[in-house]
Amino acid sequence: MLEFERSGLIEEACGVVGVVGHPEAASIAYLALHALQHRGQESVGIAAADGLRLRAVRRMGKVSEAISKDDLAGLPGRLAAGHVRYATAGESSLRNAQPLTVQLKFGSVAIAHNGNITNASTIRRELEARGSIFHTDVDTEVIAHLIARSEADSLDGALAEALRPLEGAYSLVVLSADAAYAVRDPRGVRPLSIGRLGDAWMIASETCALDLVRASWERDVEPGEMLRFGSDGTMLSSFPFEKRAPKPCIFELIYFARPDSVVFGRGVYETRVKMGERLARESAVEADCVIPVPDSGVPAAIGFARASRIPYELGLIRSHYVGRTFIEPTGSIRDFGVKLKLNPVRRLLEGKRVIIIDDSIVRGTTCKKLVTLVREAGAAEVHFRVASPPTMWPCYYGIDTPSRDQLIAANHELDAIREFIQADSLAYLSLEGLRDATGSQPGSAASDASFCEACLTGHYPAGIIESADRREAY
Ligand code: SF4
Repeated sequence: MLEFERSGLIEEACGVVGVVGHPEAASIAYLALHALQHRGQESVGIAAADGLRLRAVRRMGKVSEAISKDDLAGLPGRLAAGHVRYATAGESSLRNAQPLTVQLKFGSVAIAHNGNITNASTIRRELEARGSIFHTDVDTEVIAHLIARSEADSLDGALAEALRPLEGAYSLVVLSADAAYAVRDPRGVRPLSIGRLGDAWMIASETCALDLVRASWERDVEPGEMLRFGSDGTMLSSFPFEKRAPKPCIFELIYFARPDSVVFGRGVYETRVKMGERLARESAVEADCVIPVPDSGVPAAIGFARASRIPYELGLIRSHYVGRTFIEPTGSIRDFGVKLKLNPVRRLLEGKRVIIIDDSIVRGTTCKKLVTLVREAGAAEVHFRVASPPTMWPCYYGIDTPSRDQLIAANHELDAIREFIQADSLAYLSLEGLRDATGSQPGSAASDASFCEACLTGHYPAGIIESADRREAY
């Protein structure tokens, strides 16, 4: 999908980082958050600790615009945690920005969370009935209250106790005045990697954040693992939760993660190329060129072109300077929004049979505009190929998807979708093809993970959130 049309479609998860044992921990966290900006643009926050005190800054907006040099100067210490959150409307969202900081009997603690806890509302109601007062709408505060209520005599014990009753998805970075923790839920739905930067430890949602600061990737936090990083450089691992079958999110590989990241042991770029190659083998069509929807469809289009031996071309040119636009002419200029962002290369497309490749279709309205754009540029035929199976179910594990009634594939057969987007042909990658490309096909050599595929299959491995209770994803 068009990444600049995310709003109202599929929103990103959030991104978390941690730095332990670096003299400029907050600045390193700031840079790492830059690399994770694609995971959330609404708000950004950094907390830092110097062994005695923990300080935090939270702002609305993107990392580079929201956090100033003065902010970083006010965050001394060798430990830091950071968070980027996806876009929603409303000023009041600042109170939901993270890392969430709370005063506990263990001192100040900052919590940065990526994922959604499916039983958070139930636990919250129980806590409220017992007198807890909540200040935000985010599930993270449930974790804070559960830590506060724990009778454990250490933060390690209280954190494990607080997380044990939770269902759903969480990749967490937790910071105290003198230690940091990285935790991944027992199913490992969201990614979380560990890196080294000299003697310092780094924690990040994606490896592209490690690359930016020239940290080396050490390993992923295992599903169900809790790691404690001491300011003396120690790293202690424990598995304090009931073991579950890992279910990493397949959509991280399809769309969310940056192509230069390695998530769940797989290079995102090469996996998407494989999806494109497989798609070409499954749904070949005679054509003159293969064009990606930039940037989300690029690796799959390269794979499709390679496997089909049809030339790969950049038929749609993306403007890199599109921000929010407040002026939109009515009536006379159709599809202004898409045209502002993408322009077809008319001389390339004129008279050609064109295959457009994208990673997924959500509502179908953007695809329709793209097909129209390419046709108006003179294409003789427009074929649409999607490098994942139909998205038919909402996500409850940290990705804000539209409800089922707005997902076009949940409500229409293939030919009706083709007709709606006005393509000459339409095909999706099969589930088997996706599993082959991601190495998750049972019995395949690379099969070490059975992914969460719930938005494709409706089989939810970690429960669902009742719609009345649905909170913001983060
Ligand atoms: S439902 Fe889809 S987007 Fe959500 S965790 Fe599962 S695979 Fe990922």
